[in-house]
Amino acid sequence: MDLFSVLSQPSWYQVILAYTNIAVCQCFKMADLNEKLLAELLKKPGNNVCADCGAKNPEWASYNIGIFVCTRCAGIHRSMGAHISKVKHLKLDRWEDSQVNRIREVGNVTARLRYEERVPPCYRKPSPDTPQVLVEQWIRAKYEREEFCHPERQNHYVSGFMEGFLMKRGKEDSRYHPRKFVLCEAEDTLKYHVKENKEPKAVLRISELNVAFAPPKIGNQNSLQISFMKDGTTRHIYVYHEDSEVITNWYLAIRCAKLHRLQVAYPGATEAELLSQLTRDFPREGFLWKTGPRHTDAYKKRWFTLDGRKLMYHDDPMDAHPKGEIFLGHSSDGFAVRPGVPLGARDQGFSFTLETPERTYLLSAQSEDDRTQWMNVIQKVIEKPLTPQDTNVAARLIRKRTASGTMNIFSSTR
Ligand SMILES: [Zn+2]
Repeated sequence: MDLFSVLSQPSWYQVILAYTNIAVCQCFKMADLNEKLLAELLKKPGNNVCADCGAKNPEWASYNIGIFVCTRCAGIHRSMGAHISKVKHLKLDRWEDSQVNRIREVGNVTARLRYEERVPPCYRKPSPDTPQVLVEQWIRAKYEREEFCHPERQNHYVSGFMEGFLMKRGKEDSRYHPRKFVLCEAEDTLKYHVKENKEPKAVLRISELNVAFAPPKIGNQNSLQISFMKDGTTRHIYVYHEDSEVITNWYLAIRCAKLHRLQVAYPGATEAELLSQLTRDFPREGFLWKTGPRHTDAYKKRWFTLDGRKLMYHDDPMDAHPKGEIFLGHSSDGFAVRPGVPLGARDQGFSFTLETPERTYLLSAQSEDDRTQWMNVIQKVIEKPLTPQDTNVAARLIRKRTASGTMNIFSSTR
């Protein structure tokens, strides 16, 4: 055989190469097709947001459940194990036909009907900015424990009674100690005991307290900050539990008890109106510098927390009591916030002025951006009309002034 005939005959390796090419091409074509099919499915109503938290443009899908999810929720799905949820990236992973078919059959809307059939109204459904533990527990409640298919599994937090130990931060020593907490919706109380069989150390009214889930300053994901008014001032307590399901159940139990009591007190109100009254996250917290009542006073570093219409300031982020509390009324009643300081007062970098009928506060932020954000959140509050609950808070703070016999109700001497 001459050289020409050798080259013109397909040799074994050429044959293999040719077949491999065909196989590789078909495989790519299928992958291409499945990726396109997924992209089409993603456009369907309900599929274009994460099935669990509502974040836009989900990039992952669970192919056994049949839903599209965002990156954060995909991570939580994966952590539950493949026996609960099998997730893949829509573009970076290879998809089998059967997996794509499963997603076509189910989709976010149908899955919601099944897995969220009986979500109790007090449950805080996550949005993209919800604390991580709440999102995690929502997903586990939905698919792992199937709490919303089997309502009897919600008894922990909807029954109106809960008791158990939580680690509570000591007011004086800042260390955490186990304390027994008892929640009783019928009495409207949340009590905690230092010694189990003795009288409670404190009795809080559920209807009057606020609970915020894991503010970043606590540095523990499974923590709650519970705030309530006592003797005309606010008191904060900090608790955590090492099990994120347990701490979430406490949070939900407080929300459920609050909702049930509000439903009795305001039978005419819509559920949506009442739900907005249950718990508040802090719109903003952080260090600001403030002067004393005289504008020539030095600026001092304080930890500020905006909670509804209360702007509180503390020496330390984890203090049990604020040093002062400023009630933010409506702009038509003389409340205003503006950049800079009045003429003659010292401007410390990123200063701004908070005007109240009682006093003018000179504050200074850490950066231009920090100042803008503080001014924006305060502006939003003073533009909002007052609710009866707001007026109640104002009255309780003002009672403190009358009781102490001074005009400086908001601790303005400090
Ligand atoms: Zn999500």
